[in-house]
Amino acid sequence: MIKSSKIIIVSGTSGSGKTTLVNSLIQHDELNLVFSVSACSRARRPLEKNGSQYIFLSLKEFKNKIKMGEFLEWEEVYPNHFYGTLKSSCDKLLIKGHNILFDVDIKGALSIKNYFKNQARSIFVQPSDIEIAKERLINRNTESAENLTHRIKKMKQEVILGKQLDYQLINDDLDCAKSSIYNYVKSFLLL
Ligand code: 5GP
Repeated sequence: MIKSSKIIIVSGTSGSGKTTLVNSLIQHDELNLVFSVSACSRARRPLEKNGSQYIFLSLKEFKNKIKMGEFLEWEEVYPNHFYGTLKSSCDKLLIKGHNILFDVDIKGALSIKNYFKNQARSIFVQPSDIEIAKERLINRNTESAENLTHRIKKMKQEVILGKQLDYQLINDDLDCAKSSIYNYVKSFLLL
């Protein structure tokens, strides 16, 4: 593990706006943050490109990589939808001396924090009311009815586990949340 790099882990409920916040952090060159592209076994959405948002694998390919011990962490986030951080992707970023930004589910966030310990800070994003997250998720219109049900069911558990992360961020107002996350991350990275 390269000690000079620092790790930022962002997690949150579905529909919390965490991906928008992650994208806003990447825009700040002075933070030297590079996004860790995970592997996943879910289908690619129309605007997604292989290797940009995710490395898209078949279920068989994903399970094979689990067997080969290629993941730093992985989770079956939704039934048959596996997501994981490849050790090789992470090592490439560390060798280049970048700070790494992870967007992972709550269990993945706890595993990555446990792996990097004080080298990492973990952030949990949620709206003040879970009903807002449900509404955002429905309006996003990216999920089948079945996936939507799974995601909504998971929210309560995510909120409970989210309390274990280092920083709880309420995202009711996007501009306000962007500035809070930036200030928190900057103070850790530029320490
Ligand atoms: P989505 O399908 O909406 O892109 O992502 C579903 C969930 O999987 C999100 O909560 C996202 O943060 C999480 N996720 C993405 N990559 C990883 C990963 O490498 N590991 C884990 N544990 N979760 C991930």
